Amino acid sequence: MITRILPQLFRHIFSRAATNLFPAAHMPPSLTDALSDPDSPPNPTVPVGKRFRGRLNYDRSKCIGCKLCVRVCPAHATDYLAEEKKIIIHNDRCCFCAQCTEVCPVKCLSMSSQFMISSYDRKANIVTGA
Ligand code: SF4
Ligand code: SF4
Repeated sequence: MITRILPQLFRHIFSRAATNLFPAAHMPPSLTDALSDPDSPPNPTVPVGKRFRGRLNYDRSKCIGCKLCVRVCPAHATDYLAEEKKIIIHNDRCCFCAQCTEVCPVKCLSMSSQFMISSYDRKANIVTGA
């Protein structure tokens, strides 16, 4: 495991940050007014970098059920379904570290560019890949 993690660690230390600055250009003059006005338009989406880490994509059909993603996840965001030999991902627990995408031997996990994922429904943030 350590031989797989160390090269990733060094790659991340010496690569450029993949985060955006907050889009201050689209900040409304009054945040209080904007929040109390239901017709207030949302900010336009901002472009994200190639290495942006958004909501996880899971290709269930390619998954071989090896559980490496479950073992490596620091946030316990993945659950293993023993009967099906597949996983589900709780995006509301995910810290977007991308360790699972690096360790997956068949590359069925990937980070998307989707970042508007807040929801009142917890189940809306469970990724089943189905
Ligand atoms: S990106 Fe990180 S926190 Fe999220 S499921 Fe994968 S290993 Fe866990
Ligand atoms: S590491 Fe990849 S193949 Fe293994 S259980 Fe996780 S998603 Fe499936």
